[in-house]
Amino acid sequence: MDPRTIGVLGGGQLGRMLVEAASRLNIDVVILDKPSDAPAKQIQATKSHIDGDFKDPDRIRELAQKSDILTIEIEHVNADILEILSRENVVIHPSPLTIRLIQDKYVQKTHLSKNHIPVVDFLEVLSRQELMDAASKFGYPFMLKSKTLAYDGRGNYVVRSADDIEEALKSLGNYEKPLYAERWAPFVKELAVMVVRRANGEVKSYPVVETVHRENICHLVIAPAQINGLVLASAKDMAERAIRTLEGAGVFGVEMFLMSDGSIYVNEIAPRPHNSGHYTIEACETSQYENHLRSILDIPLGSTELKVSAAAMINILGKSGDFEECLRPCTKALATPGATIHLYGKKECRKGRKMGHITTVADSIYQLFERIGPIIKVIDEDDSSIPRTTIQPLVGIIMGSDSDLPTMKTCAEMLESFDVPFELSIVSAHRTPLRMVEYAKNAHKRGIKVIVAGAGGAAHLPGMVAALTPLPVIGVPVKGKTLDGVDSLYSIVQMPRGVPVATVAINNSMNAGLLAVRQLGAFIPSYLEKMEQFMEEQENEVLAKVGRLEEVERVFTICGIGTDVLDLKNGFNITASSKFISS
Ligand code: ADP
Ligand code: MG
Repeated sequence: MDPRTIGVLGGGQLGRMLVEAASRLNIDVVILDKPSDAPAKQIQATKSHIDGDFKDPDRIRELAQKSDILTIEIEHVNADILEILSRENVVIHPSPLTIRLIQDKYVQKTHLSKNHIPVVDFLEVLSRQELMDAASKFGYPFMLKSKTLAYDGRGNYVVRSADDIEEALKSLGNYEKPLYAERWAPFVKELAVMVVRRANGEVKSYPVVETVHRENICHLVIAPAQINGLVLASAKDMAERAIRTLEGAGVFGVEMFLMSDGSIYVNEIAPRPHNSGHYTIEACETSQYENHLRSILDIPLGSTELKVSAAAMINILGKSGDFEECLRPCTKALATPGATIHLYGKKECRKGRKMGHITTVADSIYQLFERIGPIIKVIDEDDSSIPRTTIQPLVGIIMGSDSDLPTMKTCAEMLESFDVPFELSIVSAHRTPLRMVEYAKNAHKRGIKVIVAGAGGAAHLPGMVAALTPLPVIGVPVKGKTLDGVDSLYSIVQMPRGVPVATVAINNSMNAGLLAVRQLGAFIPSYLEKMEQFMEEQENEVLAKVGRLEEVERVFTICGIGTDVLDLKNGFNITASSKFISS
């Protein structure tokens, strides 16, 4: 492996996880931070660490002498000395210019805006007059922010009315620290993307995740974000574009706001590994930490793809001074399949302090929520931080007309009973052909895995959709008013070679739902398990009916009805099985 030594300014949990990745690659890391037992210093057996302030020019010089490359795990460092060292040809990633630019949120926003990256409206606030101007331009609420040295919401104040202004100014240091104001962003979700940029300019990004903040602190990260795949793609693209405007190598965290109309704004960028990227250790092919090392060493970047279907990261935050209280969710995590515990070795526990995190992986978003629910319950008394509102659908149920709904409803109910997220829509091959083309061409890009299409009469919908999408399509022939449904059946089933449609019986949308679950079960094991359970229950139900019939036969025999029993028995048999099929 590369014999170069990496010097890191900062020794917190990000540094600790960077050291973990470096150890595996046999790369030496030297940490500069004040405490001799800083989290990052605890886990590498090197005697080279430096106890000192990461803003102290002499200590930074000492670090540079001991290292081949300098990097950071916190952006609030001394950019002046880094710039001087850079001119003296010390290799520093990301570039000190980038660090300086990001340190000032106002300068950062101006830079992004100049580079056509959408950000919410913002205004510099150097005086009371400018503050009042911002209030009248943005209206209430608006956000008042410190330009510098902000983290975990420290440095932000939500100004809800004119009455808040005094308190806001007081809490943000009365202009002693420079301030700026931002228009309130009524986002529906907060998103984040980790982007890695190699020293040679190559850029790769990780999946878009959803971050859930409370009191400005990140509590929960869900990967992948449960939003439309087309919006995911544009968030990824925007994050990559934002990072391309910056100099230097490294991994960057791009925080974003998703608005109700699907538009996205960049909130801020972190020039280092980020809390929203911890999940990559267990859930991606290469972690953000390893890719940070690879990028600054200018060696090939690793794949940023997810290697599981879904993952969640729960922060373990200090509640009080009591460390034991923090460990309660870990006890739950020990009994949770797919959960991995990270504790940072911080000696002092304070309210809101990041003490550790738990990453849980799962084969579906439902399984993920099932797994993390009990852990979150321990942290909160309720599950309020689980974003239960929108889950991306896996199955698209479409039909030519609303008159097909009573038939197609059974498919929806079936999917619901298997916890399969689905969407239901009217798409007509004849009346809205362009909508049908758009639906079929984009369904897989949005995240749909199977399409169930119901159609009556001429019934072209399933076949036309199958001709346009790479997804499996299940056709449900719907019985119309005039003919008996065989017309729809023939129309759907008689597809030309090369364009397959799996066709179920007339009006049997239940089977379409079950087939969709089986198709998902081919790559999501928990659906396969549920299907096995369903089949077992189905079998038990039939066996119970057989048992009841045998009981009837026994009673009739005892009553001496003789040969009539056989006919009765057959009659019962027929009724029982046909009932079962239609129920
Ligand atoms: P920090 O440096 O503490 O992360 P941010 O500027 O990212 O500061 O703000 C922290 C959180 O505050 C964000 O994640 C978001 O929840 C909320 N927030 C920030 N800016 C706005 C805004 N303009 N409108 C609405 N909420 C905001
Ligand atoms: Mg932030």
